[in-house]
Amino acid sequence: MAQPIGRHFLQIPGPTNVPDRVLRAMSAPTIDHRGPEFAALTTDVLEAVKPVFGTTNPVVVYPGSGTGAWEAALVNTLSPGDRVLAFETGHFATLWRDLATNLGLTVDFLPGDWRHGVDADALAERLAADTAHEIAAVCVVHNETSTGVTSAIPPVSRALRESGHPALLLVDTISSLGSVDYRHDEWGVDVTISCSQKGLMLPPGLGFNAVSDKALRAAETARLPRSYWDWRPVIEANRTGFFPSTPATNLLYGLREALRMLDEEGLPQVFARHLRHAEATRAAVRAWGLDLLCLDDRAHSPALTAVLVPGEHDADKIRAIILDRFNMSLGAGLGKLRGKVFRIGHLGHFNDLTLAGTLSGVQMGLSLAGVPVGHGGITAALDVLEAA
Ligand SMILES: *Cc1c(COP(=O)(O)O)cnc(C)c1O
Repeated sequence: MAQPIGRHFLQIPGPTNVPDRVLRAMSAPTIDHRGPEFAALTTDVLEAVKPVFGTTNPVVVYPGSGTGAWEAALVNTLSPGDRVLAFETGHFATLWRDLATNLGLTVDFLPGDWRHGVDADALAERLAADTAHEIAAVCVVHNETSTGVTSAIPPVSRALRESGHPALLLVDTISSLGSVDYRHDEWGVDVTISCSQKGLMLPPGLGFNAVSDKALRAAETARLPRSYWDWRPVIEANRTGFFPSTPATNLLYGLREALRMLDEEGLPQVFARHLRHAEATRAAVRAWGLDLLCLDDRAHSPALTAVLVPGEHDADKIRAIILDRFNMSLGAGLGKLRGKVFRIGHLGHFNDLTLAGTLSGVQMGLSLAGVPVGHGGITAALDVLEAA
């Protein structure tokens, strides 16, 4: 088979394209993680990551995937049989629900249609009805990567605050952190969960928990079994610049570089760039005459766009044509959306011409697959890019 020429377009919503600067930083020799040089790296990275979460509190970093960071958030704060309230926003919320259930938690899963975000009014009702304060935590996926719907967090925190309910607020920012405005402290979030391979522009392999003081207090009495995921020994070792077990040294080099890049661009500019690319993508989709999966105009994800394909077509076939002809990967439909949608990732290390190239590949692929889309989508997207 002939090798494709030029760079692969990795336009799935994570893992995302890793910038050359980050790859080069990661290629440095691995050092002694108990030696003096290491402490400077730890201190540097753990401080520099805080503004991205919008916190001044500790951020715990693990070698692990996002799924591990989900588990860490639950086992550090909850006890067997605890009641947890979660929202069926899509595939990732469902996986998190399953993980919580496997850990022995009781999950109240508020049903959803996978086309809207979290309903803060429904949350307020549930909290008001829970006069015995049985709900120990509320779990929210900020950016549902399976649907391209972003749930606003401030109305969720407001519902918690106004009800006077003591439940913890746990938020998955796995595909939003570093791409979408987020404020752990200001929004009163107790645990913010994230990982490396999406907006942070790194390869997979790091998981994060940003933790509030209330979450740290909960960790003192939580009874779910935990050992590797226990925050306390990590935070303790971090004080002097170390970790209790071997950290992912080269990923931390990469993280240091990626955080420098976000800082150089400026977080407000990073967020504006994502909003603009999302808007241009939607302009293309509308001009193609296709439907967006997200039905709430206030909730379109800045990080990715999920596109419904007309009923007689298979989204996976379209993705296969695009991969074969144009060497570009798009996100598959997950769970019950399999074959029905494809997802365009426009997050991380991404600029106007990356988007133009991505949308060109999508438009040609749709046309080759026999979806009658015409040529107006690219022009509509370029108009948005040119105007801004
Ligand atoms: C990718 C993703 C996950 C899963 O992360 P892994 O690193 O694959 O374990 C969880 N939640 C959301 C919102 C995601 O986008």
